[in-house]
Amino acid sequence: MSEGAKKKEEKPRKFQAIRGTRDLLPPETALWNRVEQTAHEVFGIYGFGEIRTPILEQTELFARAVGGETDVVAKEMYSFVVADSTRLIAWKDFVAGTRRIRDLDELDIYERSLSYLSRAVREAVKAEYLPDDGETQSLLSRMNGTMLVTAAALARGRKSGVSAEFEELDKQIEDAAIAAASIKFGEEISLRPEATASVCRAYIEHNMQQLPQPVKLYYMGPMFRRERPQKGRYRQFYQIGAEILGGPDAPAIDAELIEMLMTFFDKCGLQGTELSINSIGHAADNCRRGYVAKLRAELEKVKDKLGADSQRRIETNPLRVLDSKLEHEQAIIATLPHIADHLCDECKTHYAAVKHELELRGVIYRENWRLVRGLDYYMRTTFEITAQGLGSQNAVCGGGRYDGLVELLGGPPTKGIGFAIGEDRLILSLQESGKGAAPQGRDVYIAWMGERAYATAIRAAKDLRNAGLRVELPPTELKFGKALERASKLGSRFALILGDNEVQSGEWTLKNLATSEQQKLTEQALLEYLHGL
Ligand code: AMP
Repeated sequence: MSEGAKKKEEKPRKFQAIRGTRDLLPPETALWNRVEQTAHEVFGIYGFGEIRTPILEQTELFARAVGGETDVVAKEMYSFVVADSTRLIAWKDFVAGTRRIRDLDELDIYERSLSYLSRAVREAVKAEYLPDDGETQSLLSRMNGTMLVTAAALARGRKSGVSAEFEELDKQIEDAAIAAASIKFGEEISLRPEATASVCRAYIEHNMQQLPQPVKLYYMGPMFRRERPQKGRYRQFYQIGAEILGGPDAPAIDAELIEMLMTFFDKCGLQGTELSINSIGHAADNCRRGYVAKLRAELEKVKDKLGADSQRRIETNPLRVLDSKLEHEQAIIATLPHIADHLCDECKTHYAAVKHELELRGVIYRENWRLVRGLDYYMRTTFEITAQGLGSQNAVCGGGRYDGLVELLGGPPTKGIGFAIGEDRLILSLQESGKGAAPQGRDVYIAWMGERAYATAIRAAKDLRNAGLRVELPPTELKFGKALERASKLGSRFALILGDNEVQSGEWTLKNLATSEQQKLTEQALLEYLHGL
């Protein structure tokens, strides 16, 4: 290696935030704090209390709550297994993922992996990491059975050079794969992709059904989804959300929640908000299920004209076809049946009452029959808010009713409704409409020179900060000219000039940096003057 290349290699690596994540920096963070403070205030006056749930949860919680078929769970979760050894997991995955072998070298690697794996299982049992029960013994003996057969086949193959008997191993290898797949070396956990499931888990875990119902909770914090990053879409993003759990499913609850949400956006100064609402009924043959069957039949008729995603969704989740943003599908979708015409009487009445309750509260809404929401657990009321300045990712909030969710997670039958605001998008929209945060300036910059002045400057800084003023005290001595230059750069309103003369006379110099006016004040008068501004 040349000297130059060596030097280049020695250069310490520069790190960057990973794709889809980002640093939030001042002054922007001031805007984030203002938005969050507004949420604390508005949600507080509506009787909501803050809940903070862990960022890590069992993968199963999200699979069950959000739905294993949804993009969020199937493709976008950051999931991992917590085990003592990643090598162990690799062997397990390798054995569990091998179904056919048609090559002697491959058989060799396979046979060794199987033997490592079965040794690891025995060690895990010894360490009481896996239970020493019939199930573990059975999977060990299945793996050992495959090991014996494959080892023998390997020996014969190596000797004769013929490899005709591979097919005969298929069944054994498949059996070992199934056994390996059933080993649980550790807990499977995920970074939360959303928080409703966690809030419901907490509601059940802490027996909140025994509190006065409904329980009104809100949260804020980071969520994680492995989506393709773009403007307004990140892999770590922030949500502010609220949930109402328990009590009746009175339409007034839906309407008051939406009223609170719109009040919050209003207090934040969000521009161009549009509220869309819909009802997606409930899962019964005379309601949503009947509609979905009809929708599916209609979609089958136009299948050839749809894109690949929509074609797939006809089978998996036909409602999601209505979400499509593809230009050429719009005319086709416009001809599809509307769910409003297929709601059962109760859901119809509920929906009409929600709209009436919104009108009573002066909340302006638009009906959107295509609003179905991406997550499986929604029923009846669904809603979405869009705002300006966000391009294609213009949804700042989504929400809806999810009456079956708590029960689905093992709790008692419990009504539920909630929303999640995309905080990143809310902030983006505020910035686009000129509501961004100004850089944080200083009230007073203390320009000091000399040791005696320094001691006085420290005391002055403490007193002024105690009085709530933003004060900058330079840590090293600067010439007055330089100090005043720094003061201006930091956006300071005043410079307090402290030199030997000032300390001796007890009269301090205060310079207004906008007007360049100077005045001499005693310590007490200065405090009063600054305080009175
Ligand atoms: P959801 O939990 O999917 O209903 O999303 C609720 C809101 O969170 C959306 O309306 C968006 O504002 C926001 N959101 C969802 N996914 C992302 C993401 N990847 N990046 C930024 N915001 C997001």
